[in-house]
Amino acid sequence: MMSSPTTSDPFDNESFERGITPTQWYSLIAALAVSVALVLIWWASQAAPPTVAVQRQIHDLESRWRCTNGHVFQAAGSVLPRKCKTCTATADLEVSYTCTVHGVRDVLVRLEQEDFRERITHVSVHPGIWQQMTKSVHCPKCGRAMTPSSLNPFEDR
Ligand SMILES: [Zn+2]
Ligand SMILES: [Zn+2]
Repeated sequence: MMSSPTTSDPFDNESFERGITPTQWYSLIAALAVSVALVLIWWASQAAPPTVAVQRQIHDLESRWRCTNGHVFQAAGSVLPRKCKTCTATADLEVSYTCTVHGVRDVLVRLEQEDFRERITHVSVHPGIWQQMTKSVHCPKCGRAMTPSSLNPFEDR
């Protein structure tokens, strides 16, 4: 008998067994999804920008601030002056410079942003006296050019 098989029985699941069962489809799709996800993860790791950590983000830097009344507090770095957390007077960033003879000196700085990086525009070595930033900050005792200490993240020249 070469007659084609009948599928009159509604409870016969022969049609599922003929090809790929739904369960097999699901596992196939799941396997494909996992493969695609793995490829995407690999691609994302390959496509990561090569200039990571070259650009410092001033807002990421927990910095020292000093207000005109002498209060010191910690806050994120900013190009703009902050308000003192204690007395609301204007506070400026305080960073450290080192004189080879006289040691570490804390100096207030004001910054501006230029080409997506911060540049020191003004320094205050003596309280209340601001001067234009030149090539370097000079020691108030001997006039030697001081070097920025490692605690000074805004100076990398
Ligand atoms: Zn204050
Ligand atoms: Zn000095």
